[in-house]
Amino acid sequence: MNVQTKIKYQPTEREQAFLDSIVNAKYDRQIVAGLKKFYDGKVPEDMQGFYSADELDAIKKLKEEGNDLEARMPVKITRHYFERAKKSKPIQVLVKASPREMENLEGSEDPGKQMSYSPVEGLIHKYELGLIYVVGTCSAHCRFCYREELIAKKEVERPDGTVAAKGMAQIIDITNYVREHNKIVDANGGLHPDTGRERLREILMSGGDPMVLANKNLGAWFAALSEAGVESIRIGTKEMAFYPDRFDETFFDMLDKFHEAYPQTRLRFMVHFNHPDEFLEKDEDGNYIKLPEGGLQWVESTKRAVTEFGKRGFTTLDNQAPIIKDINNDPDALRIMQRELRRNKVENHYFFCGRDIVGYKAFNVPIEEVWRILNESQKGLSGVEGHARLSITHYYGKTEVVGVTNDPMPGVKGGENGVIIMKLMRSAEDAPKKGLFTVMGRNPEAVWFSDYADRVIYDEAGLFEVRA
Ligand code: SF4
Repeated sequence: MNVQTKIKYQPTEREQAFLDSIVNAKYDRQIVAGLKKFYDGKVPEDMQGFYSADELDAIKKLKEEGNDLEARMPVKITRHYFERAKKSKPIQVLVKASPREMENLEGSEDPGKQMSYSPVEGLIHKYELGLIYVVGTCSAHCRFCYREELIAKKEVERPDGTVAAKGMAQIIDITNYVREHNKIVDANGGLHPDTGRERLREILMSGGDPMVLANKNLGAWFAALSEAGVESIRIGTKEMAFYPDRFDETFFDMLDKFHEAYPQTRLRFMVHFNHPDEFLEKDEDGNYIKLPEGGLQWVESTKRAVTEFGKRGFTTLDNQAPIIKDINNDPDALRIMQRELRRNKVENHYFFCGRDIVGYKAFNVPIEEVWRILNESQKGLSGVEGHARLSITHYYGKTEVVGVTNDPMPGVKGGENGVIIMKLMRSAEDAPKKGLFTVMGRNPEAVWFSDYADRVIYDEAGLFEVRA
């Protein structure tokens, strides 16, 4: 079991001065959490038809049978996202609970076996990047959430055999760990003597969504991580889609003051748009609206937020999103999204194949199909618009789906139906394995690594040596 220290974190004078300058604001996200208000007719009038009576009955029946859909993944929506969902079937699928989630509950309670990489409660240390859980909720909830165990507060097994819900990161524990790790790495010529890992240069603040925290809490993390020598801080957030008004004047004022106090630290916002309906306006016929000056018309508050980020050179915006059944397995939607994001200074970083969360078969598109969809979507895009890679997260680390052949591979045993090639982009367990390849015979039905276990042709990366 990880041990959390009880000693209080002491900010430096510089930190304290920065913290004292931050203004918190109040936000009214008009969140509806849970289905009860829908059952009881207590949601605002215009939301009342969002779930049909049949849908609610089916979900209720499942609960009575012991299959509580809200226990798998809590239900939550903001007013802003409801307004988007009203006009968009894909957005409805993203946010509305559905009985199909419960049809097959196969999957992992701890996708990626993250607890194997958690030396301190709330920290996942893989690579030169550490991920910290700073909060256990988001403004709204995606049904396919790959952090369902955290959001639903499920208990997960740890490597020492104990079972407990994942805890949140504490500033003092994380900064102590970063300092200690980096000290050992520096003393050993740049690599950790036991793990081969480099300095912890980057920390990804995640959860849940860090943007549900107040400005002062965000600022406290930013300053403490900078003081500990972290060079760049990533913030994983879907708030730009769920509640873009969160990126208000007080927030950008905090960012500017942070930059004044810590000019050496970069802030990388990893945003999460799945579909252009989340940020583009449509006309009465359901078409995106072309602007005379070029491009398409954005939702005003989202556009404002993106524009403010664009004015600040110390911040970047990168989009990364999974490709999920009936939400964005649509090349045309993905093409529009990639083009519009890049036009507005949001990089297209990664697209992901769905993870092996509990119930993943309701959400995941077959891996080879995702490859085809992404490639199709990038036809007609320029090089800078279409450079997002397709990744699937193995227990070992992030892999890139590099290619899927259409034709058989002559002379290659197992390649009679073509092959799929994966590259290990980041290896948490064995850093030197980064960049190595695995080749498998094609399986058009495969939604997870295990579906390729019987058709491995060449496994330089060792993806099939460990439990996938
Ligand atoms: S925004 Fe991310 S963490 Fe939050 S519910 Fe969606 S997938 Fe899960």
